[in-house]
Amino acid sequence: MLITNATLVTWGNPNQILENHALYLEEDRIADLGPAADLRAKYPDADAQRLDARGQLVMPGNICAHTHFYGAFARGMAIPGDPPKDFPEILERLWWKLDKALTPDDVRYSALVCLVDAVKHGTTTLIDHHASPNAINGSLDVIAEAVLQSGLRACLCYEVTDRDGPERAKAGIAENVRFIYKARRDKNPYLAATFGLHASLTLSDKTLEACRVEAPGETGFHIHVAEHEADEYDSLKKSGTRVVDRLEKFGILGPRTITAHCIHIDHREAERLRETGTWVTHQPRSNMNNAVGAADVEGLLRLGVKVCLGNDGFSNAMWEEWKTAYLYHKAAHRDPRRAGGYTIAEMAVTNNAALASVFFPQAPLGVLAPGAFADVIFVDYHPTTPLTAGNLPWHILFGFESSMVTTTIASGKVLMKDRQLLFLDEVEITAKSRELAGKVWERFVG
Ligand SMILES: [Zn+2]
Repeated sequence: MLITNATLVTWGNPNQILENHALYLEEDRIADLGPAADLRAKYPDADAQRLDARGQLVMPGNICAHTHFYGAFARGMAIPGDPPKDFPEILERLWWKLDKALTPDDVRYSALVCLVDAVKHGTTTLIDHHASPNAINGSLDVIAEAVLQSGLRACLCYEVTDRDGPERAKAGIAENVRFIYKARRDKNPYLAATFGLHASLTLSDKTLEACRVEAPGETGFHIHVAEHEADEYDSLKKSGTRVVDRLEKFGILGPRTITAHCIHIDHREAERLRETGTWVTHQPRSNMNNAVGAADVEGLLRLGVKVCLGNDGFSNAMWEEWKTAYLYHKAAHRDPRRAGGYTIAEMAVTNNAALASVFFPQAPLGVLAPGAFADVIFVDYHPTTPLTAGNLPWHILFGFESSMVTTTIASGKVLMKDRQLLFLDEVEITAKSRELAGKVWERFVG
């Protein structure tokens, strides 16, 4: 397929903005890029499959480093009683009740609505963290089917926890192990697996040990770390050490492991994350919503920790997460020099692509370059001020809207064209989701 009449944003190193260029896709990869006239001459047979970008920006699909498809049905739901006063109460009164109310059908539609949202807003690779304590076995297959239906790319895991008793902890471990082996056998370029853990504060030594023992070799973990002080105090009480030290003792850290949040870690913990090559993800919208504090993302980046950008189940409109990160740290520190555009791009573009490549090593992601996966979006953005590779982050922060994504292509397949979804039936998914969510809400309060 030849994409013509495009202004390419490569997100390469260095980033380039190439006007009146074309992009040639072959199967699931980008095969070539260059001036439009050159590529038209070079690939005359591509005429039948030509896609006119009509001067829009054509750029790599966005990547989300940490999300929860299972949280979609919480939208608009009331929590009975007084509003939760802190994050531990939010967990107990919202998330740990909602996840128990989910059936396999709910898991499917919760994932599908997130995937529709991702296609519409140009997020083509997602790293998910799943929980459904009353529907554990096979839940990752249900999500995997939804992912394959969508045409997007996702890395899945089930969050092991002791909060629902030893049987469910065991079932969670088994679900991870089963799905990890399945993903290795299938070698499907759209699906990957990691080993999910909820958080240190809901995991006993015994369960952490069992996870390490049961996890297939070369597996990484995906866990929440120090999202609230409670996680650190619990770890100190249980083990006499802080969360990151505790996880390291059980062999949980490493270059395939994701630690989400890391807001309340100390200097030594940051140092251990760097030395072990462990990934950190930052979710500013969620952190503000839960009032859990602002992670020292700039300090971590300066130290050499690989910090990425996730959405923690907020909309799959990653530029919203960019904007929040950009504003949050300025407000939190009363310093307008904090979290500049390049820092946000380093997390959201460079580091997210590197993290995604850990799970999808077959081809580069997050970049327009020959050989990379053909994950491409069209953005109907016509700058009212000069746009350069250097000031692009600020155009994204102050000018881009996720609704400007008009076309989404993943693995060379056009999933949305001129805002029309071609594979997912949004009307059916929306109606069914609304019906299922209503029942989940009834079980939630009942
Ligand atoms: Zn999370």
